[in-house]
Amino acid sequence: MIQIETFPVYPLGCNCSIIYSQTTKEAYVIDPGGNEKEIIEKLNQKQLVLKALIHTHAHFDHCLGTKTISQNFPLASVCLHKADLELYKMLPVQCKFFGLPYNNLELIEITHFLQDEEELPIHEKKFKVFHTPGHTPGSICFYLELENQPILFSGDTLFAGGIGRTDLWGGDSHAILKSIKKRLLTLDDETLVIPGHGQFTKIYNEKHYNPFL
Ligand SMILES: [Zn+2]
Ligand SMILES: [Zn+2]
Repeated sequence: MIQIETFPVYPLGCNCSIIYSQTTKEAYVIDPGGNEKEIIEKLNQKQLVLKALIHTHAHFDHCLGTKTISQNFPLASVCLHKADLELYKMLPVQCKFFGLPYNNLELIEITHFLQDEEELPIHEKKFKVFHTPGHTPGSICFYLELENQPILFSGDTLFAGGIGRTDLWGGDSHAILKSIKKRLLTLDDETLVIPGHGQFTKIYNEKHYNPFL
């Protein structure tokens, strides 16, 4: 059985998810934006083997826990889409811009660049990577199909009743609409959407009631 645990983390309430197999103990963490001690504790309590830290994009509120978690799980790969590498290198600048202290100035190296349509295995299932630029150039969504329930981790690309802002570094309002319409709204209506912030939703709801689309 594959389990998903999602919880908001400091400082901006980014939804962090731990996806793990109870059988093989493999785990992925999506968007370790903060609360790194809590995340490490959760992984250790369940005796999980962290395979990868996955970032839906390189905004600081999705990456601030990366360094500490990676140091505790040195075998886990650190994953990002290459188009967000410049933004990742700018983490200290981003923090300064938002008035946050950033003491972890030395960045952890990205060890795996995610590609569009790439598949990442977990037990007998596979995550699929969708490159969905717009909120940032390297924004990514992750798709997983679990016993009749498709699930989309949409990062800051698609929210319940909203879409990601495009006024920050590398944002593109035309590209985000194209990404959502072409890659996300074409998914099954019943797909559960776990966004980067706020409430979960379904593709059906966003297709019909999202005022930005
Ligand atoms: Zn963001
Ligand atoms: Zn965010």
